[in-house]
Amino acid sequence: MRRGFWLLALGLGLAFAVTAQGQPPLAQTSSRVSGDRAWKHLNAQVNHGPRVPGSLGHAKTLAYLEAELRRAGGRVTVDRFTVRLEGKSYAMANLYADFGPTAPDGLQGGMLAAHWDTRPVADHDPEPANRAQPIPGANDGASGTAVLLEIARVLGETPPQTPLRIAFWDGEDLGTTDATMFYGSRFYVRNRPLPRWGILLDMVGDRDLVIPQEGYSAHHAPELTRRIWDAAKLLGYASYFPRREGPAINDDHLPFLGAGVPFVDLIDFDYPYWHTLGDKPERCSAKSLEIVGNVVLHVVRELDRQK
Ligand SMILES: [Zn+2]
Repeated sequence: MRRGFWLLALGLGLAFAVTAQGQPPLAQTSSRVSGDRAWKHLNAQVNHGPRVPGSLGHAKTLAYLEAELRRAGGRVTVDRFTVRLEGKSYAMANLYADFGPTAPDGLQGGMLAAHWDTRPVADHDPEPANRAQPIPGANDGASGTAVLLEIARVLGETPPQTPLRIAFWDGEDLGTTDATMFYGSRFYVRNRPLPRWGILLDMVGDRDLVIPQEGYSAHHAPELTRRIWDAAKLLGYASYFPRREGPAINDDHLPFLGAGVPFVDLIDFDYPYWHTLGDKPERCSAKSLEIVGNVVLHVVRELDRQK
């Protein structure tokens, strides 16, 4: 009931804005995240097929991400590494797109991140026969990646004053334990310069979007968490970002928190299609991508102004 009322109120507000002011100027539209553009990125990834390391969909999506990030104007690095698991060798790649000035002593700015790989097995599917198949990963994989590609476009048009790196992790969802997951982020923390702060986007596309404060983030990065939820409220998205603590999730932010970097995980873990073949675009929405993108972009701009 509350949700329905909220959507109605938002729709009325939008109609009023257009009637009263006509089309917003181009500069204004381009400085905001477009849910429609992010939605195209989500579908493009899903259409490539599952992004399991070593698969055709993985190779196609790696090329797609690199091309899109270059087109956005980012300084792109493809960081390749190899993982051995149960006698098999996996060629993996993180991608980094840098915006704003280059820090002379390595990267010491902010970081936005998402994992771009998808799970090789639908081990939570209600149908046992499906559990050996790879998931489509519309929400779990493609959603965060899609929002970050769209944020990259905006940052390319209006670059930040301070260094900002957008990172795409590989191998987040390969195995079943902490030791056989999160390969890309763990590789990064061991081998690359750490950022000053970070925001992780994972499963942010659910059409029924509710993002509570993830447990580890709330306790180990309380200031950044508060800032993000303040931004959501300011933008009129308080109902999507309730100010309550949600479950603690083992995810790509933990290696950074362990290294002392405040890193917040934005995750809507209340998603019935998690690790099932049902994780498809129709469970997601362009509007959810737009909401999350605009909240994150607002925080990036705010921290950039403070330097
Ligand atoms: Zn997953």
